[in-house]
Amino acid sequence: MARTLLTGARIFDGTGADLREQDLVIDGETLRLGAGDADETVDLAGTTVLPGFVDAHVHVCLSDLDLVANLGYPFSYQFFLAERNLRRTLDAGITTVRDASGADLGIQRAVDDGLIDGPALRISIIALSQTGGHGDHWLPSGNAPEILLEHPGRPSGVVDGPDEARKRVRELIRNGANFIKVNTSGGVFSPRDNPAHAHFTQEELDAIVSEAARVDVPAMAHAHGAAGIKAAVRAGVRSVEHGTDLDDEAIALMLERGTWLVPTLGVSQFIVDRIDQGAAVAPGIAEKARANHAMRADSFKRAVDAGVRIAMGSDAAAEMHGRNLVELRLMAEGGLAPLRVLEAATRSAAELLGVDDRVGTIADGRQADLVVVSGDPLDFAAYPENILRVYRKGKLVRRRPSPSGQPV
Ligand SMILES: [Zn+2]
Repeated sequence: MARTLLTGARIFDGTGADLREQDLVIDGETLRLGAGDADETVDLAGTTVLPGFVDAHVHVCLSDLDLVANLGYPFSYQFFLAERNLRRTLDAGITTVRDASGADLGIQRAVDDGLIDGPALRISIIALSQTGGHGDHWLPSGNAPEILLEHPGRPSGVVDGPDEARKRVRELIRNGANFIKVNTSGGVFSPRDNPAHAHFTQEELDAIVSEAARVDVPAMAHAHGAAGIKAAVRAGVRSVEHGTDLDDEAIALMLERGTWLVPTLGVSQFIVDRIDQGAAVAPGIAEKARANHAMRADSFKRAVDAGVRIAMGSDAAAEMHGRNLVELRLMAEGGLAPLRVLEAATRSAAELLGVDDRVGTIADGRQADLVVVSGDPLDFAAYPENILRVYRKGKLVRRRPSPSGQPV
């Protein structure tokens, strides 16, 4: 097995500790601390080595914000676009993602088997939604343009009542879901709902989360309004996605239960920008996007101040694939200390995903998923262009010249 010595760099080990000098050895797929015999030595003086980044909320099958463009794609084209999106994500230094609806078992396995180049995936397949909820795209014309169409590996996510919800959870787990995603509030991109409203009854949510928990599958909740956030936390979800309107009670509940917040600040900015540039979206959505964007930053700051556990998730879709790390800058601007921003994007996100025994930190025996960064690793505006090298499972998957033009 080939051994590569990385020498001269500082490391950020993922734990939030200060940067320190540390030589590393990539031994096959495994990371070793310290020097030692090597087949190859790479001088990384002046750079910083970090664990490969973990993005806890992406949609690799969503490739276009424009509804009409989406409806024009042949069905199977989404999977080829997903391959491109995964490659862009890996290029940006993200070596593990959680797909928050869209990706199925075939995509996960194609990466695992090395058929396509991408970050390792945890998948949720499709988000559960009540009739008229965030996953129901019904329009007054009677058309319901669904971008993530049902297929044998991806059932419809629209369910009503505890029994139907339980059955769909079982189907999703049968189909390979690592997480069950549930929409406990309305959303921005769904035409007939309001993000402030709670969706699903507590009884339905309890059925969904407990059914998944019976086979050790955690749940994640898309939740904007305070009522939907609290119902999700009470049902026992592992993470709240977006968390747009966190009131004091919601924050207290999340602290009490240890619920993670995945703030997805990046997508909020992206959607508003794209709508301003003229993206064609269904009626009413532009207004919802602007209102939602204004609230999200304030809730994030309150969660940070209260000490809610935070994991990085960009909600990357469309042109955001490969721009995921914009989330680092937005979290820092939102009040999270710089080393904690890096921790949220490495160890914390890995812990949320349940993969922290393998990735998310630099420690002896971990999987060799690494990024090599030039300049100041806390200058988040410089990402991802400052990422010189990306290793996944010990393999150098991306290499670019340093800003000075010197190969590293
Ligand atoms: Zn999402």
